[in-house]
Amino acid sequence: MAIETPRAVTDSPPPILSHWIGGTAVEVLPEHTGPVYNPATGQIIARVPRGGQPEVDRAVAAAAAAFPAWRDMPLIARSNIFFAYRHLVYEHREEMARLITRDHGKTFPDALAEVLRGLETIDFACGLPAHLAGMMTPNVSTKVDAFTLRGPLGVTAAITPFNFPAMVPMWIYPIALMAGNTMVWKPSSHTPGASQLQADLWKQAGLPDGVFNVVYGGREAVAAIVEHPDVAAIQFVGSTKVGRYVYEEGTRRGKRVGSFTSAKNAMLVLPDADLDLAADSAVAAGYGSAGERCMAQTLMIAVGEAGERLRPKILERIAKLKVTDGMEPGADMGPIYSAEHRASVIDWIGVGESEGAELVVDGRTFEGPNPDGFFLGVSLFDHVTPDMRIYQEEIFGPVFGIVHAETYEEGLKLINDHKYANGTAIFTTNGGAARRFKLEVDVPMIGVNVPIPVPAGYMSFGGAKDSAIGDLAMRGEDGIRFFTQQKMVTERWPEPGKEGPLSLVFPGNA
Ligand code: NAD
Repeated sequence: MAIETPRAVTDSPPPILSHWIGGTAVEVLPEHTGPVYNPATGQIIARVPRGGQPEVDRAVAAAAAAFPAWRDMPLIARSNIFFAYRHLVYEHREEMARLITRDHGKTFPDALAEVLRGLETIDFACGLPAHLAGMMTPNVSTKVDAFTLRGPLGVTAAITPFNFPAMVPMWIYPIALMAGNTMVWKPSSHTPGASQLQADLWKQAGLPDGVFNVVYGGREAVAAIVEHPDVAAIQFVGSTKVGRYVYEEGTRRGKRVGSFTSAKNAMLVLPDADLDLAADSAVAAGYGSAGERCMAQTLMIAVGEAGERLRPKILERIAKLKVTDGMEPGADMGPIYSAEHRASVIDWIGVGESEGAELVVDGRTFEGPNPDGFFLGVSLFDHVTPDMRIYQEEIFGPVFGIVHAETYEEGLKLINDHKYANGTAIFTTNGGAARRFKLEVDVPMIGVNVPIPVPAGYMSFGGAKDSAIGDLAMRGEDGIRFFTQQKMVTERWPEPGKEGPLSLVFPGNA
C-alpha cells in the first residue's frame, strides 16, 4: 500500500534535536536528520539526528571515561543525585507529559501516568544501596573470611521503543546508573521529545558528565552499540524481530543482553465475572493509548455465555469514546503514532475481514478532528479464532477481538498455546478459579480482575516465549542482577610472624 507522506505546515523551521554526549549537546546538520511528527496534526515538529557509528563511538568513549569516578563515588553521594533527579522529574512531570503527547499522540493524562509509573523505578533506585549489599562469612578457614559484593559492569546501553518514551527508559537507566554503571541510551526516533528533557534534568541534578548519554538513530546506531567492544550490557525493548537480532549479535560478542519484545495479550472472562468491570477493562486495556502498549489486552477469551452478554456492554462503551487530539480535555484516545503504522493497522483490519472474523465496529470509517492527523477509530472483531492471523500476530493498534471458549480449560489452553506471553488477566468472582489460573497459566505477568497488570516499579517486569529473550527480567531484583557483577572474595589476614608453613595441598576449610 502506498503511504502518503504527511505535509509539513509549520511556519518556522522545526527545531533540530541534539545528541547528548559527555554532558553537552552535540549538534548536527539538517541533512543528517529525519522528521518528527505530531500525529494529531501531521505536522513536522522537530528534526531528529540520524546518528551512527561515529556518534555511538563518541558516546561510549565518554561513558567509559566517566565510569571509574562514577563507580568509586560513595553510594550516598550517588543516591543524593538520584533524589535530586527524582524531585526534578516530578516537578517537570507535566512538561514531560506534554512532550510525550506531542510526538506520540497518547492523551495527556495517559502520558502523565506514564511519567509517574517511570518515577516508581527512580524511587526504587534512590534506595538501591541497601540492595547492593553483599554477604560476609567470617572464619571460613583459619584467619580466612569470605564475602560477596556486587560491582557495576562498566558501559551499558538501553535501546527503547516509541510507545513509552519516558517510562520504559526509566525502568532501565535508574538501576544501571545507581549500580555504578554508565549508560548510552538510544531512544526511538519517532518519539524523541521527552529524552532531551531527561538528559537536561540529569544535568540539573548534578550527574557527572558522561555518565548518561543519548544518541539518536536507527538501525546503524543500534548496530554500532551491539558491535561496540566496550559496551558490556544492553537492555532492549521493542519488537521481537529487532530484539532477537540485538540479543543474538550482542551475546555472540560476550555482552549481557535482555530483550523485552512483542506481545498479544488475552484476558479470560468466566461467566461468573462482574461483566461491567470486564467490559470496562476490555475497552480500557484494548483501546487505551490506541492499543500501542505491550501490556494491552487485545483479545478477550469469553467462556460460555459471557461473550454474548459482554458484546453489547463493550459496544455501549465504545459508542461513548472520544477519539481526538490527546491534548483535548476529555480525550480517551489519540491518533496512531505514525502514518505508516496507521496504514499497517488498516491492513490488519482487512486481514481480519478476509479471515472471516465478524467486524462489529470498523474504525476505518472514523473521521478524525484533523484530516492531516493519523487518526483511526477503534475496531471490534467478534468470533475471532486461533487459526486467524489477527489472533496470532501483534497488531499494536486499537483493534480488539472476542474469542469464544466453552470452558475454563479451553480458554487456559488457548492462552498457554500462544507464541507470545507477556501479560494476561482473569476476570471472575471465584477465588478458587483465580487461584488455579495463577498457578496454571504460562504467562509471567498476571492480573486478577486487573486488565493491565504492570507490576509495581520496585518489582521485576518481563514476559516469556517470544515476548522476552534472555534470562532475567527488567528492573526489580532481576534488574539489579542484570546490571551488576557478583564477586566472591576469599580473604586472609594472618597475624604478623604467625604465617603457616608452605603447603601445596589444595586449600581446605580447617
Ligand atoms: P522497534 O523494534 O521497531 O524499535 C525498537 C528500537 O529498535 C528503537 O529504538 C528503534 O529505533 C530500533 N530499531 C527499529 N528497527 C530496527 C532495525 N531494523 N535494526 C536495529 N534497530 C532497529 O519497536 P517499536 O515499534 O519502537 O515498539 C513497538 C514494539 O515494542 C511492539 O512490538 C511492542 O510490543 C514492543 N514493546 C515491548 C515491551 C515489553 O516490555 N515487552 C514494552 C514496550 C514495547
